Amino acid sequence: MRSETFDAVVIGARCAGASVAMLMAKQGMSVLCVDRDEAGTDTLSSHAMTRGAVMQLERWGVAQRLMAHDTPWIGRSTFHFGDEVIPVDLRPMNGVPGMMGTRRHITDRVLAEAAAEAGAELRYRCAFRDVLREGSGRVTGVILSDPLGRTYDVSAGLVVGADGLRSTVARRLGAPVTRQGINALTHIYAYVRGMPLADNHAFFAKGLSVGVLPTNGGQSCVIASVRPESFRGLRATMTETEALRHLASETNAELGVMMNDAEIVGVPKVFGGHVGRMHQAAGPGWALVGDAGYFRDPVTAHGMTDAFRDAEVLARAAASGTDQALSDFAAARDAVTKDIWTLTDRLAAFDMPVTEVRDLFLWLSAAMRDEQAWMQDRFSLKAIAA
Ligand SMILES: Cc1cc2nc3c(=O)[nH]c(=O)nc-3n(C[C@H](O)[C@H](O)[C@H](O)COP(=O)(O)OP(=O)(O)OC[C@H]3O[C@@H](n4cnc5c(N)ncnc54)[C@H](O)[C@@H]3O)c2cc1C
Repeated sequence: MRSETFDAVVIGARCAGASVAMLMAKQGMSVLCVDRDEAGTDTLSSHAMTRGAVMQLERWGVAQRLMAHDTPWIGRSTFHFGDEVIPVDLRPMNGVPGMMGTRRHITDRVLAEAAAEAGAELRYRCAFRDVLREGSGRVTGVILSDPLGRTYDVSAGLVVGADGLRSTVARRLGAPVTRQGINALTHIYAYVRGMPLADNHAFFAKGLSVGVLPTNGGQSCVIASVRPESFRGLRATMTETEALRHLASETNAELGVMMNDAEIVGVPKVFGGHVGRMHQAAGPGWALVGDAGYFRDPVTAHGMTDAFRDAEVLARAAASGTDQALSDFAAARDAVTKDIWTLTDRLAAFDMPVTEVRDLFLWLSAAMRDEQAWMQDRFSLKAIAA
């Protein structure tokens, strides 16, 4: 049977996996990063990247590459809490002019290319099957399968699960669930041509929100979030396209008119919802990063920021090569995500008046400022050369 050896093997080659593979390779580690998907494919996700996420991409030299794909910089976010409108100008901060909304098939591909340039080996249509362990229980590698279903072993000092929300790696590891949320929303989104709104907008009504994010090719990503039972009720009588237009006009009458005049490209995509879940992030010979380790409702649009932040903390721990460094990575993730976890789960109930939604977003804004300061402090002294 075929067998290979690497310092680290990463399962999943999107925003968490490609980032951590790139950063480990830049530190001289031999890295194999695999994904069962084809290269450059899209995934079920909107793609608002907060300032913290863009800060990481800037530092890694990746933001500039995304701009080359006709990605607009977003200099202002406007929040519409019922009739109360709060515009937030995103002044340049931490070297970042604003936020970005690059589509995922571009971001994930550019990150994977950067990982390959850094020296990581990328392998697509390659599926993770199981972990290998030594007698003590320590993880020592993985069993993978090729596109024909033939399995082979890969030995590695570190196995990283970056395989998303329904992580098989976490399951095979038996990684303990350390936190479980209560609430989950349904999200429906589509790409829209002809939206007259510039910059990022978020509209809120009781039990509803709609985000409008400028993205590549002059289109906007319009995403509506609603309680699952309400969405099921709508779908009993409406198509996805009708439901998205309906949710827009229920959230804000003017937005409804804009959506009716605009062209929805293709059929909207639906994420039914999933309650938040946190796994223990590391153990002997293994770590989890991105949604595999930590998922909360997408209503706060923070998953990519989590992935980029934790990828760097994990890559540094991996390079130091000790179990203690991996435990420190796990503890750091739990500490830095505490507030955003709590407020996201509360928000995902969508049972509160719009004034409380506003207060939760003000809390989110403060928590994100703290998170950026934490990243600046932690990463700036030992920045990994781009
Ligand atoms: C509707 C929706 C809207 C969202 N909007 C935003 C937003 O606006 N901003 C934001 O920051 N976040 C958003 N998110 C969250 C964001 O999508 C995730 O946090 C992010 O995709 C996590 O990245 P990841 O690399 O951990 O996992 P993923 O992107 O899920 O990638 C996991 C990869 O692992 C691969 N894989 C899985 N199993 C195996 C296996 N057995 N073998 C090999 N490969 C495997 C998959 O093929 C996949 O490519 C949204 C999510 C949803 C659902």
